Amino acid sequence: MGENCFLCGKKLEETFLGKPNGSPVKIKEDNSKNKIYYVCSECQSKNGRNFKKEVEKKLGL
Ligand SMILES: [Zn+2]
Repeated sequence: MGENCFLCGKKLEETFLGKPNGSPVKIKEDNSKNKIYYVCSECQSKNGRNFKKEVEKKLGL
């Protein structure tokens, strides 16, 4: 199982804990469950603190 960066699509390495090496962004979906999207460090530094907004924008929220 692997995760890709939601913004650029780059494949994320896994940390030693087996978690994707990116920042998780929790988005509340219609059924009120949180879905987690990962954003790589490159996209984070590109968007600064707005990277969560970029995820929402891409989702059309
Ligand atoms: Zn990225």
